[in-house]
Amino acid sequence: MPVDLLSQPLQFVKGVGPRRSADLERVGLLTVEDLLLRFPLRYENRAGLTPMAALRPGHTATVVGEVLSSGIRPTRRPGFRLFEVVVRDASGAVRAVFPNQSFLKDVFHAQQQVVLYGPLEYRSGGLQFTNPEYEIVRGDGDDPDDAHVHTGRIVPIYEKVGSVTPRMQRSLVHQLLAQLPDEVMDPVPAAVRQGLSLPTRRDAILHTHFPPADTSVDDLNAFRTEAQRRLIFEEFFLFQAGLVLRKRRHADVRKTRAVQVDDRIREAARKALPFKLTPGQKVALREIVTDMQRPEPMHRLLQGDVGAGKTVVALLAALVAMENGFQVAFMAPTEILADQHYMTIRRLLEHTRFRVASLTGSLTAARKRAALAEIASGTTNLVVGTHALVEGAVEFRDLGLVVIDEQHRFGVMQRATLRGKGQQPDVLVMTATPIPRTLALTAFGDLDVSVIRDLPPGRQPIRTVARPESRRDEIYQLVRKELEQGRQAYVVYPLVEESEKVDLRAATEMAETLQTEVFPDYRVALLHGKMKADDKEQVMAGFARGDVHVLAATTVVEVGVDVANATIMVVEHAERFGLSQLHQLRGRVGRGAHASTCVLVYQAPLTEQGQARITTLTDTNDGFVIAERDLDIRGPGDFFGTRQSGLPTLRVGDLVRDHVMMEEARREAVNWLDDPARSKPLVEFLSANWAQRFGLVGIG
Ligand code: ADP
Ligand code: MG
Repeated sequence: MPVDLLSQPLQFVKGVGPRRSADLERVGLLTVEDLLLRFPLRYENRAGLTPMAALRPGHTATVVGEVLSSGIRPTRRPGFRLFEVVVRDASGAVRAVFPNQSFLKDVFHAQQQVVLYGPLEYRSGGLQFTNPEYEIVRGDGDDPDDAHVHTGRIVPIYEKVGSVTPRMQRSLVHQLLAQLPDEVMDPVPAAVRQGLSLPTRRDAILHTHFPPADTSVDDLNAFRTEAQRRLIFEEFFLFQAGLVLRKRRHADVRKTRAVQVDDRIREAARKALPFKLTPGQKVALREIVTDMQRPEPMHRLLQGDVGAGKTVVALLAALVAMENGFQVAFMAPTEILADQHYMTIRRLLEHTRFRVASLTGSLTAARKRAALAEIASGTTNLVVGTHALVEGAVEFRDLGLVVIDEQHRFGVMQRATLRGKGQQPDVLVMTATPIPRTLALTAFGDLDVSVIRDLPPGRQPIRTVARPESRRDEIYQLVRKELEQGRQAYVVYPLVEESEKVDLRAATEMAETLQTEVFPDYRVALLHGKMKADDKEQVMAGFARGDVHVLAATTVVEVGVDVANATIMVVEHAERFGLSQLHQLRGRVGRGAHASTCVLVYQAPLTEQGQARITTLTDTNDGFVIAERDLDIRGPGDFFGTRQSGLPTLRVGDLVRDHVMMEEARREAVNWLDDPARSKPLVEFLSANWAQRFGLVGIG
C-alpha cells in the first residue's frame, strides 16, 4: 500500500488506465482524494428492492433481476422501434421498454443481472417500465462478490465522466475506500470538529459514498447527512480561513500616511454638494472616511442599488483624499462609463481647486503623453479611466485612493496590480449589482462592506410592465406620450457576444425604423459599443442636452448613463437578459422628479424561467430581492457571469444550498485564527494549498 493513498494519481490506480484517467483528468479529477471528495449526484435505496410480484402501476420502484430476453420490436408507426427487455426475479417478471434506443441491443444480454428504476404503468396487458434508469450490475465476466456494491444497499449514483460509467466509478470508489488508512490527515483542527460534533474525515468520506443502512435517503439526496455536511464544512472552513488570512496579510501593510480630517475638510466636502446626503449615504461615507484615517489601506466594498448615490459618496471620499494632498484614480468598466464619470466629476469639482483628467484608450498619443506627464508630476489630482489606469505605464506622484466602479468586472488580479502601483492606496470598490449576502461573504470575504439601502428623496418608483412583441403599437404609444410631454426615451436592444454582428445589424435597423417610421417627428440616435469614441460622446452629449429624444442603444447604457429627463425605457427581447441586468437597465430611468416606466418587450411564448424573471421585475423594485431571486434561478456561477469574478472553485459545497454553513465556517475560521500558536498548522496548510485549491489569487 502506498504511503499516502489520497495523494496518489488516479492514473496508477488499479483498473483506471490511461483512457479513463484522461477522462477523469478532464473534469479535474487527478488524485484519489479528488475522486473521493466528489459527491455522488444522488443516492438510490437498493436495499428497499420491490419483489416483482408486488409491483403496482403508478408506483416508482427499484427492481433487480436477471435478463430473460431482450430485443428490438418493430411497431406499427414506420421508423419507430421499441427496445424491450424482460427481467425476472424469484417472484415474477416485468417488462421495460425504451423507445427508439436500438443501441441498447449491445448493452443488454440474457442472464445479466440488472437494476431498473422508475415509475410503472399498465400497458398491453402487463406492467411495464418506460425508459427506466438501468444499470447492469453483473455481466458475464464479473466477480460475483461485486454485486453487493451495486445492489442490496443505499448506493451512490455518480455522474458519468467520459468513458467512466457511474457503475465503474462506484466500483473504483469502493475499492479505494477499502484501502483507506486508519488515520486520514484532516486539515480541520480536531477542536473545531469536536466543537461542532462533526464526524472524522475518514468516517465522513466512507459514509458519503456508502452510507450506513439506517441513513435517510432523503437526507442524502438533500446533501445534509452528517458525513456530507462535515465535508462541506471542511471546504468552507478552509476557504474562509484563507480569506481571513489574505485579509490579515493586507492589514500588516502600512500606508505612507493616513488621511486626516478636520472641520475645514468637512466644510469643503459639504460645499461641493448641491444636496444633502441620505442617511444611508452618511453612514457609508463615515465608514469609508474612518478607514481612510487608519494606518492600513482600506479595502471596502460599497454596495447600493442603481441610483442610490454611491458615486457621490465616492466623490466625497475622493475630496477628502485630495484635501490631504493625495491623488485619486477613478476606474470604470467601460469607456462610456468613464466618460460619464468624468463629466459628472468635473462638474461637481468645478468650483474646487482640484484638477480632473480623463485617461481612456481613445486619447491620441500626444494627448495621452501629456496626460501621463501631468499625472506623474501631480498636477492632476483626480484621473478617471478604464483598465488603462492599471494596465499601462501610468505613474502617480502620490496615489492615495483608488475607486473602482462595478467590481464584478474587475478581477482580483487587477486589484492587486493597482495596489502595487501607488503607495498602498486605499481601495473603494462600488457595485450597483446588489450582491446577496452569501455571495458577498464568498466573493468579497476579504473586503469590508458598506451598503446604501435608501434612495435619494423625491424618487418615484419605476412602473414596470411586460408586453409581448405583438403589442408593439401600444408600446410606441406609451413612448410617444412621454415624448409629447418633453421627456426622453431609451430603447434597448440586447447584444449577445456570440451573435454580435447580427445583433448589431438588428439594433441599427431598429434605430432606422424608429426614426423613419415610428417617430419621424423626433430625433432618434443610435449608440453602441463599436462606435468611435468621438461619435459615442456626441450622441451621449446630444441625449444629455435633450437634442436627441430617443436613444436606441445596445446594452452599453446598462451602467452609468444618467439623464434625469429620460422617463421611459423599452427593453427589446427582455427574455434574453438576466434579472440583474434588466434591473440595472431599468435604473437608467426614474432618476428625476417625473414618474418613469419600463416596458419589457418579449417574444411569446416565454419559457418558465423567462416568465419567472419577468414577473420578478414587474413585482419588485428592490435590487436585493431581485439579486436573491437571480441567484436562485441561475446559480452562483452565472450570477457574476465570469470566472474571474473572485468566486472560488467549490467541490462539494453549494453557495445557495449551504449558505448557512458558509457563515458558520467563517465564524469558526475567524475564531481559530485568532490564536497564532494553535493555528500554525492550518496556516501552513493554507499557504501551500489554498490558491490552487480554490482557483484564486494566493494569500501570499
Ligand atoms: P449610483 O452611483 O449609486 O448609481 P449616483 O451617485 O450616480 O448613484 O446618484 C444618482 C443620482 O442621484 C445622481 O444624479 C446624483 O446626483 C443624485 N443624488 C445622489 N445622492 C443624492 C442625494 N442625497 N440627494 C439628491 N440627489 C442625489
Ligand atoms: Mg453609478
